[in-house]
Amino acid sequence: MTPVSFLSKMKACVLTWGCQLNQHRSEEIEGVLERAGYEIVSRPEEADVVILNTCMVRQRAEDKVAGRLGELQHLKKSCPLVIGVGGCMSQGRKKELLRYPSVDFLFGSANASEIPELIERAMRGERPVSLPYPNRIERLPVRRRSSFQAYLTIAEGCSNSCAYCIVPFVRGPLRSRPMKEVLAELRELAELGYKEVTLLGQNVDAYGLDLHDGTNFATLLREVAKIPISRIRFTSSHPAYMTNETIAAIAEGENICEHVHLAVQSGSNRVLRAMRRGYTRERFLRIVEKLRTAIPGVNITTDIIVGFPGETDEDFQGTLSLIREAEFGTVYVAMYSPRPYTAAAELPDDVPPPEKKRRLEAVLEETRRIAQKINERKLEEVEEVLVEGFLESKGLYYGKTRDMRTVLFPGEEGMVGKLVWVKFERATPGALYGEAVKETVA
Ligand code: SF4
Repeated sequence: MTPVSFLSKMKACVLTWGCQLNQHRSEEIEGVLERAGYEIVSRPEEADVVILNTCMVRQRAEDKVAGRLGELQHLKKSCPLVIGVGGCMSQGRKKELLRYPSVDFLFGSANASEIPELIERAMRGERPVSLPYPNRIERLPVRRRSSFQAYLTIAEGCSNSCAYCIVPFVRGPLRSRPMKEVLAELRELAELGYKEVTLLGQNVDAYGLDLHDGTNFATLLREVAKIPISRIRFTSSHPAYMTNETIAAIAEGENICEHVHLAVQSGSNRVLRAMRRGYTRERFLRIVEKLRTAIPGVNITTDIIVGFPGETDEDFQGTLSLIREAEFGTVYVAMYSPRPYTAAAELPDDVPPPEKKRRLEAVLEETRRIAQKINERKLEEVEEVLVEGFLESKGLYYGKTRDMRTVLFPGEEGMVGKLVWVKFERATPGALYGEAVKETVA
């Protein structure tokens, strides 16, 4: 590969859609580009190269990428621009993406290291496409976007086959990183003074099962708890894989935060079977009970899909009653969107869009009611908040408690990145408002 010296003025902009794994992948893409001599800029208008790191978990995510490609086509008319598309959509929509004249090259969801070379080939007039089957983990330089919060991928891909999910097709099978490597990266982050690290995987509870050396998520959490970082988070958890060992490890780990994102998707056993989720509503509620017993005050959040093929109103009532029974802190709800190659794509998408919308709004309303109730219970309490930023529109600082609640409060310059204790005075479904009472000297 030609050294980039003659390209050193080149500016690159990375646009990202999708989950935290993809957000972190973009930090790695920026790391690869920076190492190759590119200057990272935040707006396509300033860039010579634009990289789109895409998502196709739902149709809406794809539509957003299509819209952006249209805009970039215009920009390209007024200035020379190299455009590369990667991530899940390039793995799943190669033909469709190559129909966009603005696209100069494609890369996959597991070969970001190739980007500098693909840019060079595109600049030489080629239209390279490199979409190897995603069955490896690259060790990539990371250009982290925060100096106090970090993502750390512990496993890539997923070997499950949930009927609605495109992930196994576009991100490949489960690949766990060796525990030694994960712990080494975590120690580096501790030395750099990071306050919070989020361990990432499509299904963190399956961590290590592909290593066949006795490693599993519980053993990892126990080792992670020994590393001096104030807050350890992890996402996403899977009810079919969460073990009593893991629950015990979360409870024992002082720096492991009291928040578990446990995706349930539906409250109907009939729909859970059709989704091939591998657990029942009853098993899910038993896990919730075990978590609440082992970790008092734990905040459990979840994902729900409404309008899965064949979902009746009775099934949906099952979902609403489960939300009430489990008392989730937050529910991320989405309308079912058929994905190519998935088993569910063979089923008739028979829940009419207005009915999907009605069910989505019913879930949001129920969740808001419960979140308000839960947040009101916290009034007058004092909790530690990691300050993430300043909200101009409200003139308040914001951050998260250990159990992942959003807190807003008046503060002062220099508080971002600090751990501050806040007394809660007002509750809304989405946030707690309060006053800072003291700072954690960390
Ligand atoms: S566990 Fe299921 S929903 Fe989650 S990434 Fe794997 S296949 Fe998709």
